[in-house]
Amino acid sequence: MKQVKRRCFPVFKENSRVPVLLSKVSPIEIGAISLALFVFARGEMTKTTKRHETIHYLQWLELGFIGFLLLYPTFWLINLIRYRDGARAYQEIPFEREAYGHEEEAGYLATRKRYGWLKYVTSSSSQASA
Ligand SMILES: [Zn+2]
Repeated sequence: MKQVKRRCFPVFKENSRVPVLLSKVSPIEIGAISLALFVFARGEMTKTTKRHETIHYLQWLELGFIGFLLLYPTFWLINLIRYRDGARAYQEIPFEREAYGHEEEAGYLATRKRYGWLKYVTSSSSQASA
């Protein structure tokens, strides 16, 4: 049986006001954001940004949307308590660690295993980077 390559991408919306508006209520300045089936960006997206946001899109799908919506801020809050630093709390979110860790890899989306973010749940970035 021939294996079908997974080609699963969100709908990219460039030059959007959504990141501008969300930045007003967010602890970080948002350049692009994945919201369920859509990715909104302030300007045009690089391949790296599209790959980063597509990783988030796959995470949304894996968690049935509501799971991502609940887990993302939960991880951020746990990290904020742990590190007492908003920027580090964001960087340590397992979803972000997978996305930043693989956004430069051209072949990652084709080879990514489902729930690729899970391995980042139990380790901090200082432990994982070698
Ligand atoms: Zn991200």
